[in-house]
Amino acid sequence: MQLSDRITTLLGEGDDGWGVFYRARAMKAAGRDAIELTIGEHDIRTDPRILAAMHGAAMGGHTGYASIPGTPALRDAVAARVQARTGVPTTRANVLITPGGQAGLFATHHATCDAGDTALYIDPAYVTYPGVLRALGLVPHAVATRAEDGFQPRAHDIAAAVRAAHRPRSLLVNSPNNPTGGVYERATLAGIADVVQAHDLWLISDEVYDTQVWEGAHISPRALPDMAQRTLVIGSMSKSHAMTGSRIGWILGPEAAIARMADLATHTTYGVPGFVQDAAQFALAQGDALEVEVAAPFLRRRALALDLLARQNLVKVQPPQGAMYLMLDIRATGLSGEAFAMALLEDKAIAVMPGESFGRSAAGHVRVAMTVADDIFAAALSQLLAFATERATQVA
Ligand code: PMP
Repeated sequence: MQLSDRITTLLGEGDDGWGVFYRARAMKAAGRDAIELTIGEHDIRTDPRILAAMHGAAMGGHTGYASIPGTPALRDAVAARVQARTGVPTTRANVLITPGGQAGLFATHHATCDAGDTALYIDPAYVTYPGVLRALGLVPHAVATRAEDGFQPRAHDIAAAVRAAHRPRSLLVNSPNNPTGGVYERATLAGIADVVQAHDLWLISDEVYDTQVWEGAHISPRALPDMAQRTLVIGSMSKSHAMTGSRIGWILGPEAAIARMADLATHTTYGVPGFVQDAAQFALAQGDALEVEVAAPFLRRRALALDLLARQNLVKVQPPQGAMYLMLDIRATGLSGEAFAMALLEDKAIAVMPGESFGRSAAGHVRVAMTVADDIFAAALSQLLAFATERATQVA
């Protein structure tokens, strides 16, 4: 039986650069030790206090169907958090609880674009973006950025992409950014706001790393003048509270859009388990302290990495302003990101993601996730730098 085009084309062509990741997993399965600096997941587990709250809620009976748009208490807690951080008036009617940010990416595009429409996103991008768009029957259109701009998009390039696109409806942005670690400056966001307003587009803002900011400040575009009515924000407890496996996040937006996406949830996910929602409410009630604690290892490893990188000048880095990754420019080795990552895995059993897996703009780069213990991380990075030197010497 034939499957739909929507599902068979979901992954696009090739392995999207995931070859290194699968190869590392296969090496490990075969008993060879490989250090994985690939996936964006903490090396700590969910805080036991959050688990205790989850357990208590489940034992207390919150195990039936939960309120589909989210429990009123959690929606209120998210609204209060967002209003306090951004200054944008936000109530529970502006909040939909979702099973993670990934479900938010799907629902927001489902709500804003029709099949055949073009959905724009910024390249380099989180790997699932084009697949989400293709799964919805949309035409993904990448807007390229440049390493020399710190991968911050130029308004001019977005406007050109909008003009070139067939029925453009939305633009997806992500700050703090995975994979680049960039945090969009106010001027970048103002340029984006101008373009989406001029062309009447929805802005979908993926802010799942908003608690991991090392330099500058996170600005939500929803807080810019006249943007709240055309912006849908995606939030998540995955990164902020090391709750990746709990599958909980949210969408913020205008009331009417939230109500429609709640209808979609009734027909897709049927909401998020009540005990998980209660645990999230507990976690948010702990305030900033817990978020700072969860983010601390990345800040520490960032400092370790910048120190090691400063001792050589072959591999270049733009110090990440946020998130849990380093985007290393390895062009001076003469290798592509893909060739570098594959050879590093074969020679040193260290797995990093080729920049190419995040889009063309990140060619000649590799993304290093700062997600292993400090000593292992520092040793792996030193080996990576030594490997880069060996390769560069061979080229020269
Ligand atoms: N957006 C970005 C940029 C991400 O990096 C991730 C996860 N790696 C997600 C969304 C989805 O996260 P989750 O579904 O766990 O909230």
